[in-house]
Amino acid sequence: MNHDRSRELYDRALSVMAGGVNSSVRATKPYPFFIQRGDGGHVIDADGNRYIDWVMGYGPLLYGHQIPEPVEAAVQSHTAAGPIYGAPTEIEVKHAEFVARHVPSVEMLRFVNSGTEATVSAVRLARGYTGREKIVIMEGGYHGAQESTLVESGGGPTDTRPSTPGIPDSFAEHTLTVPFNDPEAAQQVFEQHGDEIAAVMTEPTLGNMGIVQPVEGYHEMLRELCDDHGSLLIFDEVITGFRVGGLECAQGKLGVTPDVTTFGKIIGGGYPVGAIGGQAEIIEEFTPAGEVFQSGTFSGHPVTMAAGYEYLNYAAENDVYGHVNDLAEQLRAGITDICEDQAPEYTVVGSDSMFKTVFTRDRPEDGDLCEAGCEQRESCCRYDYCPKTGADVADAATDRWERVHWQEMKDQGVFLTANQYESQFVSYAHTQADVDETLEAYKQAL
Ligand SMILES: *Cc1c(COP(=O)(O)O)cnc(C)c1O
Repeated sequence: MNHDRSRELYDRALSVMAGGVNSSVRATKPYPFFIQRGDGGHVIDADGNRYIDWVMGYGPLLYGHQIPEPVEAAVQSHTAAGPIYGAPTEIEVKHAEFVARHVPSVEMLRFVNSGTEATVSAVRLARGYTGREKIVIMEGGYHGAQESTLVESGGGPTDTRPSTPGIPDSFAEHTLTVPFNDPEAAQQVFEQHGDEIAAVMTEPTLGNMGIVQPVEGYHEMLRELCDDHGSLLIFDEVITGFRVGGLECAQGKLGVTPDVTTFGKIIGGGYPVGAIGGQAEIIEEFTPAGEVFQSGTFSGHPVTMAAGYEYLNYAAENDVYGHVNDLAEQLRAGITDICEDQAPEYTVVGSDSMFKTVFTRDRPEDGDLCEAGCEQRESCCRYDYCPKTGADVADAATDRWERVHWQEMKDQGVFLTANQYESQFVSYAHTQADVDETLEAYKQAL
C-alpha cells in the first residue's frame, strides 16, 4: 500500500498541531493514515487505499458512513436555516422527549457538546445536589479528559494522584478509586467515606479498557450502597448509550436504574454532543432551574439535535440493532474459533455491537468457569479467560498486540484501533462480506 500522501500530510500536521493530531489516540505509529472520505462500512485514505472500518469514529457512527436519508435531510434543512441562534428550538425538545421516552431512568436532560463536558457537568451536579465532595470511580474506567477522573491509584482507594501533569494533587484527593467488579472494595470505601461520597460514577461495561463486562450483581450492589449512603449512582453511557441494550441503553438491559446518566457519541448522530439525564428532581438542580451552574454557547446545537434525533428515530423504526448485533456476534464467534486454532492466548470480549480481542497470555484450566457475564458465555467458558478488571486488560498489553492488530490487519485493509483498550464497533452499513473478509484477515494475521 502506498501512503505517500498521508506521510506528507502528517509532516505538515506535525508542524502546526501537537503530535500532528487533535485527539491523542489518532497518532498511530509510525504515522496515521489520513482519511479522504467514508463509504458505507469503509474508509478511503488520502492515497486512495480502502479499509473496512471497525473504528467507527470511536463509537458514534451507528450507521457507518452511510447516513440514512432522513438524517441527511434534517441536517441539511437545519444547516440551511442558519445553524445557531442563542435561543431555544423545537428540535431540542423533540430529542429530549425521545430520550426520556426510551431510557428508563431519564425524565429530563441537559444537552452539552462532548462526553467529557457531560461527565464534568454530572460530577458538578452530584456535588451540588448532595453537598458532598468525593466521587468514586473505577480503575480502568474512562470519563473523558476531565480533572476529576484523570487520576490513578497508588494502591488503596484514597491513594489517588493525577494521571497527567497539569492537575493539582489537591483535586485528585476528592476522587476515590476502586477496581471494577470488586464488591468488597466498594463496600469498604463506603464504610470509610460513605457520608462524604457525592456519587459513584461508572461505565455499565468498561468500554475503553478492552471491554470488561460486569459480573452478576455488581451494579445492583453499587445501587444499594448509594441508596444506603445518600450518594448518587451515575452511569456513564457515553459509549453504551443507544448501542448496548438498544434504545433502552445498558441500564435497560441490566435492569439497574442510575440516578444520573451521561450520554455522548451516538446521540449526536455523528456531530459533537454530550448530555446529562436523570430524574427531574436532580437535573433541575442545573441553572436556571436550580443553583448548579451549567451553560454552553453551542449546547443543544440544532444541527446536532436534528442528526441525533433522526438517528435514534431511524433505529426505532428499522431493525438496526438486530443487524449490528448479529454481525458482531458472527465476528466474536468467528474470531474465537480462529484464536482457538491459531492463537489461544487471545480472548474475544464484547456484547451487542462491540467486540475486541485482548491478548491475555493465559488460558484457564479445563473446567474453570468465567465469572464475567459475557454474552458468548458458553464459548467463553470453554476457551477463554475474560478480563474482570481494567488491570487485567492493562497487564496484557504488549507490542505484539499492536503489531498483529494494527499493523498486519491494516496491511490487509482492515482498520482497527491501534491498542487493545478501545473497542471495535459494528455499524448498520457493514455487510456479511465485510465480516467474512475481516475473519479471513484475522486468519492471516494470527
Ligand atoms: C468517549 C467517552 C467519553 C468522552 O467523550 P468525548 O466526547 O470524547 O469527550 C466519556 N466517557 C466514556 C465512557 C467514553 O467512552
